[in-house]
Amino acid sequence: MSRRRLLQGTAALGGVIAFGTAVSASTTPAFAATVSRPDIMSTNDWGASAAQGSLPILTRRPTHLVIHHTTHVNSDDFSNAAAKEVARLIQRNHMTNGWADTGQQFTIARGGQMLEGRHGSLDAVVDGTRFIEGAHAYGFNDQSVGIEVDGMYTNDVPTDAQWSSLVHLSAYICQRYGLHVDRIIAHRDVPGAQTLCCGDAFYGKLSALRAEVASALANGVDGGSGPSGDYPTVRLGDEGDAVRRVQVTLDVIGHDPGVADGVFGPATEKALREYQSLLGTGVDGIAGPRTWGALATHHAAGSTVTSGDSGTEVEYLQRGLKASSGVDLATDGLFGDQTEAAVSAYQKARGLTVDGVAGAETWAALKHGQ
Ligand SMILES: [Zn+2]
Repeated sequence: MSRRRLLQGTAALGGVIAFGTAVSASTTPAFAATVSRPDIMSTNDWGASAAQGSLPILTRRPTHLVIHHTTHVNSDDFSNAAAKEVARLIQRNHMTNGWADTGQQFTIARGGQMLEGRHGSLDAVVDGTRFIEGAHAYGFNDQSVGIEVDGMYTNDVPTDAQWSSLVHLSAYICQRYGLHVDRIIAHRDVPGAQTLCCGDAFYGKLSALRAEVASALANGVDGGSGPSGDYPTVRLGDEGDAVRRVQVTLDVIGHDPGVADGVFGPATEKALREYQSLLGTGVDGIAGPRTWGALATHHAAGSTVTSGDSGTEVEYLQRGLKASSGVDLATDGLFGDQTEAAVSAYQKARGLTVDGVAGAETWAALKHGQ
């Protein structure tokens, strides 16, 4: 995903949620797309030594993602060779502590390279149902995975390349493990931690990180419409990515669907019914076109957009129209002729004033699942 898309997504976060007193004031965009698997160097790729002894495999998902800085000097060597060397250095240092292996599950080098830390962590996150217990956050290792961002960030912040990688890797971890972005914390936030990790300057960017990760989860990473453009009707018993997107979306809105595992079970149905009862347009526990339309536009600010406009609000509008009407519409955030025609058609079908402009009336209809 380009920085432009990420920043657009972030810019929309000030939007006011328009309805439902029971709806949490989450600042997370509503839509969960598929985040592509990042290109991560495995322990093999960087020439890790074998671990000393066995590494505990926890057959459950972590509850938190913990962000660290290594406190190494901020190197200007952004090469792959330097990235591999720092991974080996960390492993040597950690094993000198008497640890079995590198403490953290993942590392981000100064050049933005993503590397597996502790052996097995990469396969585990791809699988999404287990993690390797690390040694990065005392008292919290049995419930969290950690990312070490190489450098010292008390006064400086990570490089742009590190930041982009951190957003992508964090989004992928959140997606695979069904973690809400609020579960991204700094080492200093771990209960009982006595550390200033990940440094004051970097710590000041944690809320921005959560917002950008939320946007990445909403819009996908690496562009393309992909599965995020699909809004199939899903109900109890269904499985797959669309179910996962419904679950993640309900979760960020404040209705607990259980673990976002892509399996539409009773907890997901209950959460969906709660959400539908707030919409006021019928409760059936099924995510059909109108419910999808509401989910897709939930976090839009609802500002008036018209032909020639562009940005995140337009993208929300396009997603909502596509989801609720099944119209074949690009979700590119550019309000052109096709979007105008889709707005007019939607307005006509719903008995609204037909002007091709998305104003308060049109937004309200979309957000209420009409
Ligand atoms: Zn730390």
